[in-house]
Amino acid sequence: MPGHEIVRQLVMAFDINALRVKPGTSVDLSTIDPDSTPQWSDKQSGDVSNKEAGKARVLELNERLESLQELLYAEGKHRILVVIQAMDAGGKDGTIKHVFEGVNPSGVKVAAFKAPTSNERAHDYLWRIHQHVPANGQLTIFNRSHYEDVLVVRVMDLVEKDRWKKRYDHIVNFEQMLVDEGTTIIKFFLHISKEEQGQRLQERLDRPEKNWKFDSGDLVHRERWGDYQKAFEAAIERTSTEDSPWYVIPANRKWYRNIAISEVIVQTLESLQMEFPPAPDDIAAMTIAN
Ligand code: ATP
Ligand code: MG
Repeated sequence: MPGHEIVRQLVMAFDINALRVKPGTSVDLSTIDPDSTPQWSDKQSGDVSNKEAGKARVLELNERLESLQELLYAEGKHRILVVIQAMDAGGKDGTIKHVFEGVNPSGVKVAAFKAPTSNERAHDYLWRIHQHVPANGQLTIFNRSHYEDVLVVRVMDLVEKDRWKKRYDHIVNFEQMLVDEGTTIIKFFLHISKEEQGQRLQERLDRPEKNWKFDSGDLVHRERWGDYQKAFEAAIERTSTEDSPWYVIPANRKWYRNIAISEVIVQTLESLQMEFPPAPDDIAAMTIAN
């Protein structure tokens, strides 16, 4: 079957709700296979033609995203916040690079959150986050986010439990406020296996052009893999709401990860039914003099 026909057959079927964490459901990451390709082709995920068709689909979705983002910018009504969380080497940078390739940089921003500076630590943990939320017509991607304050902070005991355990409710309320004020929030957890992380970290050691990405600190977090999985489960479970949902994306296969994330973003933007602003009344009568 030619590639485009495979694409057409698979396109119609992608139900993003299958990846969405319904509010109030419990999350057990060990039951979600990071190698799987749900809603794409569960049966033949190792198939080369499937991977090729997948890459073609990402390009199609990318064009659609470019148009939707232009519409978002032109209409200037909605604010879109995309949150990406993952273990180290989980593919956050690669996702941003591939999914948002070619979008107009005027309307798209990436905010990356590292360990807080002393000035940031002198404020509440949402202070630095709030400054980066999108304005009207903008799409902002959070590469890490306020969720670090219930992930690394919880696992590495950076603040006492009495403090971080209240943060789930703060986060739900903070995000609900953003939604009520006109922001659409989409949150992704890129779910990779410990083995896949091992291979990706090894590549950072082996390939000179990737050496700069190697951080020996990642190994400390890797040793606490199980605790991190539990912390992610708690965060996702307690903060996936109707208005601010989490999507768990099996992410060992980068091409599938890119399809799934593009599908969620494109379908969410389409559901907003945006429109270009109306032309000024007198435009029809105008011509441009040479
Ligand atoms: P890569 O995956 O390519 O390594 P990265 O997102 O890990 O990219 P780094 O600069 O390597 O970027 O790491 C950022 C570090 O900052 C992470 O270890 C993360 O846990 C830490 N960090 C982020 N937010 C907080 C926070 N609120 N408190 C403590 N540490 C944080
Ligand atoms: Mg890192």
